[in-house]
Amino acid sequence: MAERIIILGAGESGVGSAILAQKAGFSVLVSDAGKIKPDYRQTLMDLGVEFEEGGHTESRIVEADSVIKSPGIPEKAPIIKLLHNKAIPVISELEFAARYSKARHICITGSNGKTTTTLMTYHILKAAGLKVGLAGNIGQSFARQVAEQDFDFYVLEVSSFQLDGMYDFRADIAILMNITPDHLDRYEYKFQNYADSKFRIIQNMRPEDSFIYCGDDPVIQAEIAKRQIIPQKLPFGFDQVYNPGAWAEGEQLNIVINNNPFNMSLFDLSMQGKHNAYNSMASGIASRVLEIRKDAIRECLTDFQGVEHRLESVIKVHGIEFINDSKATNVNSTWYALESMKGKVVWIVGGIDKGNDYSILHSLVREKVKSIVCLGKDNSKIHQSFDDIIETVVDTGDMEEAVRAAYYLAEQGNIVLLSPCCASFDLFENYEDRGRQFKNAVRNL
Ligand code: ADP
Repeated sequence: MAERIIILGAGESGVGSAILAQKAGFSVLVSDAGKIKPDYRQTLMDLGVEFEEGGHTESRIVEADSVIKSPGIPEKAPIIKLLHNKAIPVISELEFAARYSKARHICITGSNGKTTTTLMTYHILKAAGLKVGLAGNIGQSFARQVAEQDFDFYVLEVSSFQLDGMYDFRADIAILMNITPDHLDRYEYKFQNYADSKFRIIQNMRPEDSFIYCGDDPVIQAEIAKRQIIPQKLPFGFDQVYNPGAWAEGEQLNIVINNNPFNMSLFDLSMQGKHNAYNSMASGIASRVLEIRKDAIRECLTDFQGVEHRLESVIKVHGIEFINDSKATNVNSTWYALESMKGKVVWIVGGIDKGNDYSILHSLVREKVKSIVCLGKDNSKIHQSFDDIIETVVDTGDMEEAVRAAYYLAEQGNIVLLSPCCASFDLFENYEDRGRQFKNAVRNL
């Protein structure tokens, strides 16, 4: 009898896993506690894969030989606890799909900058003519592409939730952008658990593989000091000369691997701001490891177009610039947003707090923020943190109201910045919905 695989969650990663599992000859059941989106339901029906929605049939699920879990399902969900009690292996989609992929894997993780760095790296590799796919938390699932495509390389955006279900997966190149508090609700509010999860990115790596990481990040430094690191270490940053690795000196960005230097002006990077210099260094190192021509890298770092909802300039209305940074769902990403602002800011902030410590923003807020518009169901923590340092802190209940309030509080030359520090699910479907509503409200002013 065919081995039984149960797939929990019928989103992009679950449906992709179903396609691959069926192709690989497993007996497959897809089970979703909620409603399955119509196009995914159709795909499953076309494939002839069995599925259920609106609940899990436990008696069937515990008969599985192994389970592929969508990254959205937390470890503490009763069905996952039950599977652990029964010692049934629970893995992530990336773990499963990698068993069927012979491609080289360039994996990018971190608290912030994953999507930007993933897209930048993909942009360079593709422009250089490699047969490369883009997957992970982004676009089409890895499993679906492994089933349907034939790439030599994959650039994979890897979240800690995927990493938690990865055991034998091996990255050829791993990039760790930073580790700052995020998603602590999924890690028993223990930062160490979250850091351990991020470091799973280098498990199984070999000496010939490359580990690219931010050398300036104190958490990464401390973790590296505690661990035995097998792959070649290639740090990047501003604080030291990282050779081999990448560093900035004056106005120049340098990358040196095997004594082979690459350099370009920081001013030529299409993505400005210190955080984007980090992202450019990381993707630049990965590209040099793959021996991509220096000219091609230089050109791609110069023409890379930003990503929607990440410090995206919307329009100017009466001299007031509106910037959509809806993807800033934690304090650290907002820190970089505020740091890169060139004028006084009316700051729209709030949503679902994931255990935020706002004190790290205090000095930047004092320096750059003129007034605060809270946009969340519960804004009490924002008031507690900023009422003493900012004169005007107002509450709003929807995006239109927030944008109107911000417009009213701003003057010519100011910036209205949506950089919420929080998840969006209290008032919006997701961060994209929040960003789109912001842009619509701005255009309707
Ligand atoms: P992720 O995929 O890790 O969430 P994104 O590239 O989508 O990362 O960016 C998320 C947020 O973090 C955006 O607000 C962006 O401006 C900011 N950001 C991007 N790169 C970095 C970085 N290296 N360090 C800190 N913040 C960053």
